[in-house]
Amino acid sequence: MFKKMQSKIVVIFVALVLAIMLVVGGYMFNSTVKMYTNAFNEQMDKVMSGEFVVAMTETLRSDLSETEKTNRINTVISAYSAQLGLSDGRQCAVLDARDASRLVTTGTGAEPLEKTANILQAMAGKVGRGTSITSDFMDYAYFIEGGAGGTDYIIYIKDNKQSINILIRNMLYIIIQAILFGALASVILGYFLSRTITNPISVLTEKAEDFAEGNFDSNLEVFSQDEIGTLVETFNYMGGVMKGAINTAASEKHKLEIILENINNGIIAFNTEQDIISINQAAKKMLNIDETAGLRFDRFFEELNAKVCMAEFIYLTRFRTEFREIEINGRHIKAYFFPFKMEENRVAGVVCVFTDVTEEFNLEKSRRKFVAEVSHELKTPLTTIGTYTETLLDNYPVDKDMEISFLKTIQNETIKMTNLVKNLLTLSRFDAQSVELKLEAFDLAEMLSEVVETFRVQAENKNQELLYNTVNAIPMIYADRFQIERAVKNIVSNSLKYTPENGSVKVFAGFLNNQAYIKIEDTGIGIPEEDIGHIFERFYRVDKARSREQGGTGLGLAIAKEIIENHKGSISMESRMGEYTRVTIKLPLNAAEKTKTALS
Ligand code: ATP
Ligand code: MG
Repeated sequence: MFKKMQSKIVVIFVALVLAIMLVVGGYMFNSTVKMYTNAFNEQMDKVMSGEFVVAMTETLRSDLSETEKTNRINTVISAYSAQLGLSDGRQCAVLDARDASRLVTTGTGAEPLEKTANILQAMAGKVGRGTSITSDFMDYAYFIEGGAGGTDYIIYIKDNKQSINILIRNMLYIIIQAILFGALASVILGYFLSRTITNPISVLTEKAEDFAEGNFDSNLEVFSQDEIGTLVETFNYMGGVMKGAINTAASEKHKLEIILENINNGIIAFNTEQDIISINQAAKKMLNIDETAGLRFDRFFEELNAKVCMAEFIYLTRFRTEFREIEINGRHIKAYFFPFKMEENRVAGVVCVFTDVTEEFNLEKSRRKFVAEVSHELKTPLTTIGTYTETLLDNYPVDKDMEISFLKTIQNETIKMTNLVKNLLTLSRFDAQSVELKLEAFDLAEMLSEVVETFRVQAENKNQELLYNTVNAIPMIYADRFQIERAVKNIVSNSLKYTPENGSVKVFAGFLNNQAYIKIEDTGIGIPEEDIGHIFERFYRVDKARSREQGGTGLGLAIAKEIIENHKGSISMESRMGEYTRVTIKLPLNAAEKTKTALS
């Protein structure tokens, strides 16, 4: 099959060959005709300058009768017919120079003669030997003076170009043959020539299509060392460069995808049509997105109450980064909007980065709450001390009993504040991880029995039953004895504090699942269900007024929890209002591992 380019080349090639042949043929034709007419004229010139004209002049000027003259003329013509080259196609005539009427003629009969340019020349007394290629005959007219008083004559030779026509026909035949052959040869040659040009182009085209589909693997064979060969080489080089560039881009993209997928921040990229062009897992999880199809920028952020819209980025704020805070399912999320451009100075979309700051938010909230609570806790005793001191000073000297009572109140408030400050210091040390546990091996059962005994008097004062029991043998544990003691004391003291008179407080200890456990149970006022979840929080008290009245700081359980957790243990509380409260502590036998990390 001829391809477009191939057909063009073949057509041009054939046209070129045909044009050359036509020019050559035309030239040959032209020069042949010229040569022939020149030869005719030369031949006639030669004959006319010889004896033929002498004989003819003599005859024409003679006094012979017309018939005899005609016969003589005919005889002369026949005598010189060979020199004149007479034939069917070439005739000789003798004309009257006055009107060009025919006197004698050979061959052509008696029809009137057309007054050709040459005849007119001869009629004017000159030699008519002009030629024309286009004319269908050639002629020669020679003027002969008739002599004294005689008529002037013209010897007229007319050739109907019969022989030259035959020659030309033969030549034309040869030329046509040559043209046909040339055309055929040029088609074949043109085909092969065009193949050498179009084949590499076809191969290059296929290769370019491969490139477009992203296949840069195969290398093209370089067949020639010419410009096409250079083009193929350049093409191969280009493929290599593109492959390298695309591989680099792909690996960069892959890297970016991995980073995006593994980053904790949620990332979504939107185009200006508001459609998602990229989203990572973190964003889906953080913003509860199951299906990304149909999710549109404006509507999505409107539902999140973020007050942003794409048009604003495109037309107003443009490349300015925006920041919003979003709340979704109780989570606090910071959203940053980074408009980006692809080309020119136009916004091509917006990349949204989401950071879950719930922890920081809550921490900040609890920090503020803590500061408020500490201030509040300190304010009450300080006010009391202030009021009492002022009263004492204003009314001094006062009654001794009153003075002692006032001073005791001041002392109590001071003790409360001291306890509060001490407890706060303890907690702040735990927060700063600067509590160094003094680990030692000790007998937990024995320690608990000693702790319980320190509360004996207090329990007896309220007529409370205070019991201690070990369920089974506990191996030696490796922990900070003082801290564990402190935690247990906080809990036992709570039980005694929040259990009315005649109630009971029981302490059990045992060893289960490779862990030591301590259970402190009382038959006290209990804790409402809704408070249990918050009971280990700092300053959390079920009945604030009552707790404060009893000298509580609201930090005992929080400290106990810090201590136990720093020992890699756990603490939990169960309770039923008006029935019981049970605190369970679980401790690993060796707290060393945890201690190290806690202190590191
Ligand atoms: P502190 O222990 O610093 O003297 P406190 O006892 O008030 O003060 P926590 O030990 O942390 O503080 O206890 C917090 C709150 O939990 C108490 O105020 C009390 O309301 C409640 N609580 C703790 N233990 C018991 C218990 N055994 N029975 C009933 N309520 C309890
Ligand atoms: Mg307490």
